[in-house]
Amino acid sequence: MTDLHSHTYFSHDGKCTIEELINTAINKKMKYLGISEHVDYDCLYNNIDVKQFNPEAYFPAAFNIKEKFKDQITILVGIECGFYDVPEINKMYFDLIKKYKPEYVISSIHMVEKTDYYFANYGDKKTVYEKYLNYIYKSIHSDYYYDIIGHLGYVERYAPYEDKQMRYKDFKESFDRILKGIIEKDKILEINSSSTLDFTPFLPTEDVFAAYYKLGGRKVSFGSDTHTSQRLLDKREQIVKILKNIGFDHFTIPVNKKHIDFEF
Ligand SMILES: [Zn+2]
Ligand SMILES: [Zn+2]
Repeated sequence: MTDLHSHTYFSHDGKCTIEELINTAINKKMKYLGISEHVDYDCLYNNIDVKQFNPEAYFPAAFNIKEKFKDQITILVGIECGFYDVPEINKMYFDLIKKYKPEYVISSIHMVEKTDYYFANYGDKKTVYEKYLNYIYKSIHSDYYYDIIGHLGYVERYAPYEDKQMRYKDFKESFDRILKGIIEKDKILEINSSSTLDFTPFLPTEDVFAAYYKLGGRKVSFGSDTHTSQRLLDKREQIVKILKNIGFDHFTIPVNKKHIDFEF
């Protein structure tokens, strides 16, 4: 069992230590635990006051802990980069990855025009969602290395619309070029179980995974996006059932630019 999306105190919004997370993972008999701390250069660029990620503290500590627990569980030392469509920011991620060599990288979008989607001014749904999907498409072609496209559909989490769902059929063209891009670039689409939305227990929604499968996409990673040790593997069983129904039969784990498949 694997979970590749988690945060600890090394992230600005993490609420547990790496050790707490690992102990829970060992108790749950997990085989792989990926730690994906936030790197928020998108916030930095926009002067948003969040505690900035400290690579000098995180990487040595995480690699040390990985070694310490290596007989009990495989820890993957990763990061989650907040993509922002500005060359300087892309370059900063590129340099960070080159210097510290995380074992895997999630690329996610949290911000639109200087603010997190959480705080954004939302206008017309079609326009806002198309713009979001366009950002995602750009992030697929980012200058820095990444393995996983994180929580596609993040915009739905905080949207103020009565009908928040970003349906595949309503945005088919935009979704198709994203999904084809992920497949062509041999990247992994995350299934992220941090959703309290009434229409889906995870992001992106089931229709998007069905389209991905139909286009030939087979690489999916599981991520709870937990910020405490409580939500590790959250909804995993339910998710596996849904993915199996679509046709998927494994999760993919990236380790140092190689992909390993694990059957459900
Ligand atoms: Zn995220
Ligand atoms: Zn996250």
